[in-house]
Amino acid sequence: MKRQVVVVGAGPTGSTAAFYLAKAGLDVLLVDQEVWPRDKVCGDAYMPGLFPIFEEMGIMEEMEREVACEVNSLRIYDPEGERTDYTAPPFILVPRRIGDDIIRRGAINGGVDFLDNFCVTSLIREGNRITGINANHNNVDVSIEADVVIIANGSHSLLARELGVLAEDNPKMWMYAARGYFNNVENMVPGQAVQIYIPSSLPNYVHCANYIWVTPLYEGNTGGKVASVGCVINEYALRELNMTHDEVFEYWINETESGQYYMKNATVAKPMVGCRLPSCSTLTQVAFPGAVVLGDAANMPDKASQYGIDPGMYAAQELASILPDYIKAKDYTQAAVDAVQGALEARLNPTYAFNTIYMDQIMDNPDHLKRFFEYSRKQEVYPAGYAECIFGFLTEELGIPLG
Ligand SMILES: Cc1cc2nc3c(=O)[nH]c(=O)nc-3n(C[C@H](O)[C@H](O)[C@H](O)COP(=O)(O)OP(=O)(O)OC[C@H]3O[C@@H](n4cnc5c(N)ncnc54)[C@H](O)[C@@H]3O)c2cc1C
Repeated sequence: MKRQVVVVGAGPTGSTAAFYLAKAGLDVLLVDQEVWPRDKVCGDAYMPGLFPIFEEMGIMEEMEREVACEVNSLRIYDPEGERTDYTAPPFILVPRRIGDDIIRRGAINGGVDFLDNFCVTSLIREGNRITGINANHNNVDVSIEADVVIIANGSHSLLARELGVLAEDNPKMWMYAARGYFNNVENMVPGQAVQIYIPSSLPNYVHCANYIWVTPLYEGNTGGKVASVGCVINEYALRELNMTHDEVFEYWINETESGQYYMKNATVAKPMVGCRLPSCSTLTQVAFPGAVVLGDAANMPDKASQYGIDPGMYAAQELASILPDYIKAKDYTQAAVDAVQGALEARLNPTYAFNTIYMDQIMDNPDHLKRFFEYSRKQEVYPAGYAECIFGFLTEELGIPLG
């Protein structure tokens, strides 16, 4: 069998890539190893920058119908437990089992063929060019030739490793993120996401940009007491703390004021699960002759927030603005590969560059972080916008010119 494009992985990145490539007139097969709908461990936040893509995919209304909570404000606890409130542009929480399935169906409605229970096991190569995939579909071995293979199969992608796409060798770039759903979480404010910096009272404390989150879910029908609660910590911090991810989380619940404030009577609705999440400071090489790697498989998540749906979907959208012409022209030259790589870098690197400043100058710098919260609390209108405070603090207080 031969297809113009095979997309491996029907998560938000792969489904979006498949949708836009089909929209550009290509013949696209999207495959996933799971039986759909599938779940994905996540904080369930789809950020507002994605809404125009949802509109283009014709799924905005369905996403809105499934919103478990619309978040429009933030409460942040500093490492000493002092809190600061912010307003935030609204973003939506939709359980990933539902939200990702809506995106996948959006791709199918856009003309994409889809097969699940389809595990891609290796890439087919001719010289240095990728020419297809080997897979197991419903327990039968199959091979499919393709002009281009899009690899969007998540953070544990062996196919990406096969191509040499490796995460940066920096323990601050490797995050461990886990999340559970909890009942009887108290003191939540409707529509307010809470972030708690890793508490400074921890033995062996080392300041790091990571945090615990508490986000209300299903406010309407549960009295606002069900929450998604999770924790993201990078490898550097875990090594320095000499603790496991679970131990940090348990410490927060049992030994801190904020932990008791929210979680004293909480019970587990869905246990904590998590995974290792790669990020990057600039886009790694993701374009190859006959293949492009996207999303978590290409270390695209934002190191400041651990959000990875948006960079994956933005990259997928961008890819479709350049790749179809090369596919139609059967151009597999290095110049074509460089052009695709360049387009993706132009789309993602400005955000990575800003995040590096934001991390280095605020989140990861204990003195600046303290000053940032003080600056935020003394704004004329309190609570002020989170993004506005970041921008104002970096430019006015620290004198950093931002383009
Ligand atoms: C605890 C936690 C909380 C998070 N919270 C957020 C959040 O709130 N908002 C946010 O934006 N991001 C969040 N993230 C990150 C986000 O989950 C990922 O960045 C996002 O899922 C990346 O999408 P993707 O499509 O690239 O990969 P995935 O969503 O992982 O999809 C990859 C797909 O590939 C399939 N696959 C894997 N291997 C194969 C194979 N060999 N053959 C065929 N199919 C295969 C899988 O079944 C899967 O469906 C969080 C991550 C964690 C761990």
